[in-house]
Amino acid sequence: MVLNSYAKLNLYLRVLSRRKDNYHSLKTVFERIDLHDKIILKPIASDRIKITADTKLIPADESNLAFAAAGLLKNKFRIRSGVDIKIIKRIPVAGGMGGGSSNAVCVLCALNKLWKLGLGKKELVMLGRRLGADVPFFIHNTSFAKAGGRGDDVRPLSQLRKSRFWHIIAVPGIRASTPLVYQKWDKIGQKVRLTSADSDVKMLTSALRKKNISLISKILFNSLEEPSIKLYPEIGKIKEKLSSLGLKAVLMSGSGAAVFGMVCSKSEAFSLARQLRRNRTWRICIARTI
Ligand code: ATP
Repeated sequence: MVLNSYAKLNLYLRVLSRRKDNYHSLKTVFERIDLHDKIILKPIASDRIKITADTKLIPADESNLAFAAAGLLKNKFRIRSGVDIKIIKRIPVAGGMGGGSSNAVCVLCALNKLWKLGLGKKELVMLGRRLGADVPFFIHNTSFAKAGGRGDDVRPLSQLRKSRFWHIIAVPGIRASTPLVYQKWDKIGQKVRLTSADSDVKMLTSALRKKNISLISKILFNSLEEPSIKLYPEIGKIKEKLSSLGLKAVLMSGSGAAVFGMVCSKSEAFSLARQLRRNRTWRICIARTI
């Protein structure tokens, strides 16, 4: 079984508060993009989970989220057979693009079929949400969704079923630490905003439906951008560079470190990529909504 494990971007991410359990409440808008890892799954006779990856940037043991997903199903349903998991990594690691959660969902869904568990979407969400906050979004198998809670209470935006955008993504050669970025947000505190998160999400959804990039650029927002740039100034440099090339809709995804710009045409995305690739320390990707 060879599967595509897609990445996500956050077009909106507002941290609302820190909860008593130390997680944060947020409102977010996800977009799934066609940048993907490959996951190769093979059933094996021995009663084990094996995992390998083509990079040392992710762990090749039980702490890998793909392994954890297989372990979760194997233990819960007392499965006697094993599985061999190979990951070909293309999604930037610790880039705020949900690579680990996406890999976990691929494995959950594939093993649900392979082991004939018959789990529905709701059951998969219940089981998988403890693996990572982005897991419920990927289980919903949708191009766009809004979410509340820890980003795990997901509602697909079906009115955007047909919306497609091109993105130019720049990733600095650093790994952003999600816990550190949230700790920094806790210190900086919440900036006053004039509009509620709900009304921002409504306006953004409407702008996305109209494909109005200039309107979209006014609503794109990420509370974690400021703390991330304070911790990793290179993120700020990428934002400045993308803006200086004339891009309006520019934002950091998740807790960073990837920064994306939204454009409507493939040719625009490719021409920007050529200019950005002159900086050899940044990884530049082009991706479309999927
Ligand atoms: P998050 O914001 O949830 O930390 P992210 O989208 O910024 O995630 P990921 O690429 O998912 O970044 O990596 C987050 C961490 O998870 C890394 O430290 C990585 O080593 C670990 N990890 C475990 N399994 C995987 C996996 N299969 N793919 C990517 N990262 C993984």
